[in-house]
Amino acid sequence: MLPETGSAEPVSESSNPEALVDWALHRFAGQRTIMTSAFGMEGCALIDMIARRTSAFTVVYLDTGFFFPETMTLLERLIQRYPRIDFVNRGTTLSPQEQKERYGDELWKRDPSRCCQLRKIEPMKAVMEEADVWVTGLRRSQSATRQHLRVAEWDWRYDLLKINPLANWERRDVWEYVQRHDVPFNALHVRGYPSIGCTHCTAPVEGSEVTDYVRDGRWSGQDKTECGLHGDGI
Ligand code: SF4
Repeated sequence: MLPETGSAEPVSESSNPEALVDWALHRFAGQRTIMTSAFGMEGCALIDMIARRTSAFTVVYLDTGFFFPETMTLLERLIQRYPRIDFVNRGTTLSPQEQKERYGDELWKRDPSRCCQLRKIEPMKAVMEEADVWVTGLRRSQSATRQHLRVAEWDWRYDLLKINPLANWERRDVWEYVQRHDVPFNALHVRGYPSIGCTHCTAPVEGSEVTDYVRDGRWSGQDKTECGLHGDGI
């Protein structure tokens, strides 16, 4: 939670991710700084960068109750690999059964935005109320909706500073980092899943390579490509 290291070196919009992590940890030391992750490859690379530079840091995740078994296995590996990172689940207390009783069966098919609101966005709001600085693994080239990301920007919805150290990277850069540092990553990535969320709303993308990133496998067949956690349609 309280980063202790990092560098005071100035950074800019074109700085590399590790320089940005150094800067953020130094510049905002003592602030309530958290990272959120659903443990995609980007998140894993960023966790590794942070873990190399701090003695304590909090990574928050929102367990929707619909994670893939492979995601849970990855989480266990990350916990083992990075003992100085505190992995905190702030997922909804609304169980899948309670959701079914209150909102009907398979809400994710009938109204996925409502389902994401209940299982992701509302829990995220509670997390953000307790943070000053929010670090994410978003990249510009992940989708058209993310192309205007900046490496650091004010998030008006949550009223805090948002830092996106990987904003300039391509998926291939992430893959190379993960390979170079032997970072644990979700086994589904090499089985055709470029982006991984809930079991009900994630499908493999035919022909996709591990260095590709597309969001076609998320909510496929529906008019939705983002869960809404990041605002502005992201
Ligand atoms: S990704 Fe699907 S199952 Fe998960 S919260 Fe959103 S709509 Fe519900």
